[in-house]
Amino acid sequence: MDEFKCEIKTSNSKSGPGDAGRTGSWRVERPVIDLSKCTPAKRQKDSCYLCWLYCPDGVISKELEPKIDLEYCKGCGICAQECPTGAIKMVEETSLIEEERKNDEKN
Ligand code: SF4
Ligand code: SF4
Repeated sequence: MDEFKCEIKTSNSKSGPGDAGRTGSWRVERPVIDLSKCTPAKRQKDSCYLCWLYCPDGVISKELEPKIDLEYCKGCGICAQECPTGAIKMVEETSLIEEERKNDEKN
């Protein structure tokens, strides 16, 4: 029997942080992590990281205290939906921008 040779070429690419470009100012909501509810942060031990796994833009770090790169986060809310402990909340950009503005005025 002849040796089977497959002529089909496939690629095996994975999305990386920032592949979808900077978000700009159109995002409506942004994710905020409450570390007191985040399993790896609470236990100080690697675990879970479902937010990191499911983020389609790859912008969540896989650290004991996961961080979200808001330059690239699109605000889709998947991380908040997938977090098993409810540690991630989606917060309206406008309310946070207003909060930041007030803090800037105080300082
Ligand atoms: S999915 Fe939730 S609990 Fe798990 S690492 Fe992310 S924020 Fe923490
Ligand atoms: S909101 Fe979407 S893009 Fe932003 S960190 Fe969560 S999953 Fe990633």
